[in-house]
Amino acid sequence: MTVPTRLSELTTLRVGGPARELFEAANPRELVDTALEVWSGGEEWFALGGGSNVVVGDDGFDGTVIRILTRGIDRIDGGGPSTVRLRVQAGEPWDEVVAYTVEKGLAGLEALSGIPGSSGAAPIQNIGAYGQELSGSLVAVEFLDYITGSLEHIPAQELGFGYRTSEFKRGRLGIVVSIDVELADEAALSKPVAYPQLAEALDVELGARVPVARVRDAVLALRRSKGMVLDATDRDTASAGSFFTNPIVGEIFASELPAAAPRWPGDEDRVKLSAAWLIENAGIRRGFSLPGSRAAISSKHTLAIVNTGGATAADVTELARFVQERVRNQYGVTLHPEPVYVGFSD
Ligand SMILES: Cc1cc2nc3c(=O)[nH]c(=O)nc-3n(C[C@H](O)[C@H](O)[C@H](O)COP(=O)(O)OP(=O)(O)OC[C@H]3O[C@@H](n4cnc5c(N)ncnc54)[C@H](O)[C@@H]3O)c2cc1C
Repeated sequence: MTVPTRLSELTTLRVGGPARELFEAANPRELVDTALEVWSGGEEWFALGGGSNVVVGDDGFDGTVIRILTRGIDRIDGGGPSTVRLRVQAGEPWDEVVAYTVEKGLAGLEALSGIPGSSGAAPIQNIGAYGQELSGSLVAVEFLDYITGSLEHIPAQELGFGYRTSEFKRGRLGIVVSIDVELADEAALSKPVAYPQLAEALDVELGARVPVARVRDAVLALRRSKGMVLDATDRDTASAGSFFTNPIVGEIFASELPAAAPRWPGDEDRVKLSAAWLIENAGIRRGFSLPGSRAAISSKHTLAIVNTGGATAADVTELARFVQERVRNQYGVTLHPEPVYVGFSD
């Protein structure tokens, strides 16, 4: 099926012009056949799930969009004692998967409650929040490889997961058709709480295990207070989530930053900084917008750029560049956008 449409209608930031062509795939066979057909034509293409991590340019995308609408959550064999494995089709809305696992008393995804988008996109940037990452529960993905055209079952350990990154993010092209997750089935208790703000909200020590449903409720409440759960009545949620990743820098560089700048140990001798702190301390406050622009910093969360109503993609990218420049001038740190830019020439 081909549907001409403005991509702003299919993205949470609500910006972006039309796609030259858009195909929707509602079952796995259709998804594979559609992708292979589009690829054989040699044209530009990209996969679209929930559109919650993309910024589409105002001129749209001069190529084919493959929109993934496949559904299904199935129990599969494998795993150890007191674990359950699930195979989730790529188009299954992520938060419905989390809700399903929590309802069944399974642990591993509860802190990832409320993240918008599709399950197939979840491994792309290895979604993470409140002390959990997808990679902690993912065992494999079913992947249609763009180069070979074959459908492969790839174990998670071969996917190079890190903070908001994976082999897919680094350029391995293709489509995630389904994902397999392994969850703990232990009296509906969560994984150890690993994030201070969440522990505080739950009124427990870090490392405590509490009913999975309590974790989900606490995470949803925290996320709502930051405009991080999609809500048509809350303009602060017309965003792509956090617009910048937390920068990772060398230890020596980090030691020269003001003592008040939060930092966390990264891999080897790397240090992760708080992008939100850097932005705020570079003088950019919540609610900030450039003159005449309809894009703004969220009034609830410094890291999100929101569409306050009728913003263009140019409004969004101009504000993003302004923020990057301010932080670079003040601290010498380059902030990298988290969402994927689509349909921009530079
Ligand atoms: C309010 C809000 C809060 C958010 N909070 C978080 C958070 O806490 N943590 C976090 O990590 N992220 C967060 N995000 C970002 C986003 O929700 C996730 O990155 C999500 O996984 C994107 O899913 P999607 O289906 O919307 O992807 P899309 O935006 O449709 O696509 C994103 C990228 O993935 C590719 N892609 C999509 N599906 C597939 C597939 N099946 N196979 C191959 N490639 C694919 C696309 O081509 C594109 O490059 C938030 C976003 C919003 C709007």
